[in-house]
Amino acid sequence: MKVLIVGAGGREHALAWKCAASPEVAEVLVAPGNAGTASEPKVRNIEVGAEDVAGLVKLALDERVDLTIIGPEAPLVAGVADAFGARGLKCFGPPRAAARLEGSKAFAKEFLGRHAIPTAHSRTFTRDSFDPAWVRSQSVPLVVKASGLAGGKGVVIAGSTAEAVASAQAMFAGRFGAAGHEVVIEEFLAGEEASFIVMTDGRHVLPFASAQDHKRRDDGDRGPNTGGMGAYSPAAIVTASVHARIMREVIEPTIRGLAAEGVPYTGFLYAGLMIAADGTPRVLEFNCRLGDPEAQPLLLRLRGDLVQLCAAALEGRLAQVPAAWDERAALGVVLAAAGYPDTVRKGDVISGLEQAARLPGKIFHAATRLEGGQVLTNGGRVLCAVGLGASVAAAQREAYGLAQAVHWSGVHYRRDIGHRAIERGA
Ligand code: AMP
Repeated sequence: MKVLIVGAGGREHALAWKCAASPEVAEVLVAPGNAGTASEPKVRNIEVGAEDVAGLVKLALDERVDLTIIGPEAPLVAGVADAFGARGLKCFGPPRAAARLEGSKAFAKEFLGRHAIPTAHSRTFTRDSFDPAWVRSQSVPLVVKASGLAGGKGVVIAGSTAEAVASAQAMFAGRFGAAGHEVVIEEFLAGEEASFIVMTDGRHVLPFASAQDHKRRDDGDRGPNTGGMGAYSPAAIVTASVHARIMREVIEPTIRGLAAEGVPYTGFLYAGLMIAADGTPRVLEFNCRLGDPEAQPLLLRLRGDLVQLCAAALEGRLAQVPAAWDERAALGVVLAAAGYPDTVRKGDVISGLEQAARLPGKIFHAATRLEGGQVLTNGGRVLCAVGLGASVAAAQREAYGLAQAVHWSGVHYRRDIGHRAIERGA
């Protein structure tokens, strides 16, 4: 089989690495990929952008690709799965109509409301319908969200109603471009966050192991929000009873709701959840793809054959393929470039990758590129060092062993990924 992975980040490196491990796979193409995917056995990068839908369809036809897995959200929201389907190409990822669950927070909130799935109370506004008096009547903190795709940065936790009004107005004025034309304002939920990811063929659901990520840039969960500075699996907060509640109260009604609305969903579905102290899960957001960096530790733990799972899902028989999880915990630390999440310098030489390759664990590349035999930084989140261990603490030790082996000028990473689980004794 020939598999195509679309994307260029750490999640896509992990997907390519996992697919290449399948005995059924002869070759994995990655469009466009990074220096890490370029160096994996059986994997070849192709210079086609992840959002070039027509270019991706042509590539899949020219190369006679058997299965395509879409990494990031933007091509899904742009309708890449529809374009592949129209040409009879197998593509693991939801169609545009379903990807709106991620592409429009306003749509997602309406969907949650229609199907009585627990989430924060909210209202959605445009510039014309904005009602500052309503905002002033609410208790704080309030959460103000640009409705469209904003790379994880379009959310403001406002400590005062004045700040909430100002944040919404800044969004209407174009702070996040078109993503801020609609703004969702919602109640602040207390609790602990967890990422709950499933594969689905629209009827059957295969829950992945639980995971938790760290969105803030600095130790102690401080500093600006980022795309994610690290993640680990399992998440201690998702106990067996919380897991059962998430399936019953969130995942199953979501899949049933999509089916009832005539929206076929094949792909990964990611629910970002706030788990209250009593174990009640509430949806913060949906994503229509694997999380990054959650994918890196999750795919290191996946014992099943991902290609077989995706192929089965595309044939509506996901329930028939077994998937098991490594008993060990996995933990990934993101190594970022100086300045992240704002403007970062690119082109710094990364050293120590060969030494790191001899250590236990796995480094997945994100923003890297090859030039003259050297690996250079090429964006904000550069690498993700993932360790495995009998406990989250042991996986953390292995991950930091890897992180310490590599270096470039200005490298920044958190030293406390997994701290909540480790404080619980996990
Ligand atoms: P989202 O993109 O909607 O997941 O929001 C990004 C981050 O903002 C989440 O991971 C939470 O840390 C935080 N957040 C979003 N909505 C809420 C909420 N209603 N209550 C508390 N925190 C929130």
